[in-house]
Amino acid sequence: MRVIMLGPPGAGKGTQAARLADLLGIPQLSTGDMLRGAAEKGTPVGLAAREVMARGELVGDQIVIDCVRERIAEPDAATGFILDGFPRTLGQAVAFDAALAAAAIKLDAVLELKVVEAALLDRVILRAREAKAAGLSVRADDNAEALKVRLDAYHKQTEPLTDYYRGVGLLRTVDGMLPIDRITTRLLIELQL
Ligand code: AMP
Repeated sequence: MRVIMLGPPGAGKGTQAARLADLLGIPQLSTGDMLRGAAEKGTPVGLAAREVMARGELVGDQIVIDCVRERIAEPDAATGFILDGFPRTLGQAVAFDAALAAAAIKLDAVLELKVVEAALLDRVILRAREAKAAGLSVRADDNAEALKVRLDAYHKQTEPLTDYYRGVGLLRTVDGMLPIDRITTRLLIELQL
């Protein structure tokens, strides 16, 4: 099963992608995690992305397209994957379609989590607080200032993808304000599982 998760920052894409990945036995591919990992390791890509990410802006299309293209070619992604945080622009979606076509594979669904925008800041602040309490590192972009930029990028660059995937009959929208378990159940239903 090959699935894309769509939704604004703080919608719960990561949480639900991890659950679906676990249930389906396929990897969760988060471009945010890949970029944060690269930044921690201090690779050229990571160092270039670090400041952009901290501001809440999107990193260049080609960087993430290359990361995803390489990652989906690894053996554990051969039977499927849950993409979380990619694609985020029309350019990425079109390039991804071309990469899938070249590999003769097809997407099964694009799952959109719909949330009330007013809830997003609370969720992001809670995530930062929980990470701190657990002794984990707090994301540099989990604050009100960066969230404003991330939301702006979402509305301008990522939201148009809902029309793109609706147009090819792949979009499935689920209420992201439901309790976590119910969202997972709804997503599984949308995947006809
Ligand atoms: P996320 O963990 O998905 O919230 O992503 C954190 C940050 O990583 C984003 O705000 C962007 O700066 C960067 N990023 C992650 N995925 C992408 C993508 N597909 N395209 C561009 N930038 C991305």
